Amino acid sequence: MASAARFLSSARLARPALSANVARQSRGYASAAGAGGAGPNYGLIFSLAGVTGLGAYAYLQYNPAAKAEISAKAHELEAKAEQKIKGVQSEADAANQGTGSYAALIKDSWTPFTLTKVAPYNHNTSIYSFSFGEDGQDKVSGAEVASALLVRSPQGEGEIKDDKGKPVIRPYTPVSSNEQKGSIDLMIKEYKDGKLTPFISSLQPGQQLLFKGPILKFKYEPNTFDRGLAIAGGSGITPMYQLITHSLNIPDDKTKWTLVFSNVTEKDILLRKEWDALAKQHPDRLEVKYVLDKAPWGWKGESGFVTPSMISKVFPRSPDSNEKVRAFVCGPPPQVKSLAGPKDGPRQGELQGAFKELGYAADEVFKF
Ligand SMILES: Cc1cc2nc3c(=O)[nH]c(=O)nc-3n(C[C@H](O)[C@H](O)[C@H](O)COP(=O)(O)OP(=O)(O)OC[C@H]3O[C@@H](n4cnc5c(N)ncnc54)[C@H](O)[C@@H]3O)c2cc1C
Repeated sequence: MASAARFLSSARLARPALSANVARQSRGYASAAGAGGAGPNYGLIFSLAGVTGLGAYAYLQYNPAAKAEISAKAHELEAKAEQKIKGVQSEADAANQGTGSYAALIKDSWTPFTLTKVAPYNHNTSIYSFSFGEDGQDKVSGAEVASALLVRSPQGEGEIKDDKGKPVIRPYTPVSSNEQKGSIDLMIKEYKDGKLTPFISSLQPGQQLLFKGPILKFKYEPNTFDRGLAIAGGSGITPMYQLITHSLNIPDDKTKWTLVFSNVTEKDILLRKEWDALAKQHPDRLEVKYVLDKAPWGWKGESGFVTPSMISKVFPRSPDSNEKVRAFVCGPPPQVKSLAGPKDGPRQGELQGAFKELGYAADEVFKF
């Protein structure tokens, strides 16, 4: 009993999000044990009453009266513990609601979200909506700008693993607003020869993926730089969408943006309608430049790979200006490497490539 009381009071003292998690896990344990059958939960008896050792267990097996008495006591304790845990859960939920951090994502444990809808976007990309479940309809993801979340396939048979037998984990950036309640939307491009995306694109509504996070990549504060340059390749557009829409939606934010979005062909351009609408809506704050590797006849945008001269042309900088700029890069690793040098795992890695050539300082360039 003493250990249960200690557990409950420590759960209550923990940060709200954490205590919600602890409570959720504890509730899972308690109800699983309770639902296991009509018999008493001996695990709980021993841990709550502080009785240890096999001797006690053997004694109970051969003493039906004592067994019945302990059983009744156990049920009573179990019911009390569950009540307390529910209390901790409600306290945590209320605290989370008050602080606005009523989050569905948990930083250090995997949470299953259920696929509810797949909206095909183009020949290889769809928008996948995942629900936080019945209990999560009032929750937001918990991500702030700019964050990614981690995704993996459910454990057990059919789990997607790499060549070393480790689960395949990939980052994604929701295209839904961080204020959206009850669900998140991910825009995911399928790589036929990729590890995780063929699995994701085989999912049917009702099936689940595991989610963890959020991982804050770049904490955006309005007006900390005058002009932002976002260079994205293919599905690397989603962090830029999160970042730029957020900035444009802040009324006092004066930051101006240039988006350079490179793709193989015109039909690969993701969120084009949305970008064009945003540029029209914020002509003084957003300029969008599409770049195609294979430009069709009559294409008016840029073509070829993004080079230093293309960057200087679309985002000119005057050497004697005090203007603060920040460049963001997200795309296939070869593109990131050629623009800003490779990332060093989760670290930024040394600044190299086009931005180094153009004289950008390392803290003026961010690689997602
Ligand atoms: C911060 C961040 C956010 C992201 N957000 C999104 C998002 O919102 N939507 C989205 O669709 N993607 C996003 N991505 C990309 C995503 O994380 C995955 O990389 C992508 O979905 C591919 O996963 P996969 O396992 O299917 O393919 P992978 O197995 O990773 O393979 C992808 C491609 O690379 C090739 N490849 C694999 N290994 C090598 C190698 N060693 N050398 C050369 N080529 C190789 C494969 O053949 C394949 O064509 C994001 C990435 C980052 C870093």
